[in-house]
Amino acid sequence: MKGNKSSSGFRAGNTEITNPSSSSSTGSSRLGVLISHLSVSPPHELHLHRQPSMASEKEAALAAVPSHSHTIFDKIINKEIPSNVVYEDDEVLAFRDIDPQAPTHILIIPKVKDGLIGLSKAEERHCEILGRLLYTAKLVAKQEGLEQGFRIVINDGPNGGQSVYHLHIHLLGGRQMNWPPG
Ligand code: AMP
Repeated sequence: MKGNKSSSGFRAGNTEITNPSSSSSTGSSRLGVLISHLSVSPPHELHLHRQPSMASEKEAALAAVPSHSHTIFDKIINKEIPSNVVYEDDEVLAFRDIDPQAPTHILIIPKVKDGLIGLSKAEERHCEILGRLLYTAKLVAKQEGLEQGFRIVINDGPNGGQSVYHLHIHLLGGRQMNWPPG
């Protein structure tokens, strides 16, 4: 679900966000996701102003350039920008998606990217962290009370709809999911 209010969090890009502690945020633009790849700009320049909605999920993913550059998620890991963290340990961080597609929508990421800009870049050495991410998804699902079930999504590359090139698992729940996905 998309909306036009900036009620919480700190979206990637030129979007003003007022209450990073809320979990009910919706975002109006995927532009920020694209700009998140431009790590050269200081966070305050990237995040001060809301842009009108310009890009759909698909457009954002198609416009995103796969890159090993820092992304908005590095800023979240380093606490340079606020996020609504629901779980954290030495290896993994889980925080609420700023543009939730379900009542519960959490992103689970490795703190150290180690080349994992997407699942398609996984190598044998990543097996431990990949398992850790999935197991964390299960822990967070339980923590969030998703006893009725949930969905795990990993978007990969332009066709997969990936817009942030730092591997992440989407944990979605709190409503009936549909199949096939869009
Ligand atoms: P994907 O399109 O699979 O690469 O997912 C990237 C996700 O990151 C999207 O669902 C965005 O809504 C989300 N996102 C972008 N910036 C932020 C942010 N600052 N805080 C939380 N989620 C974000």
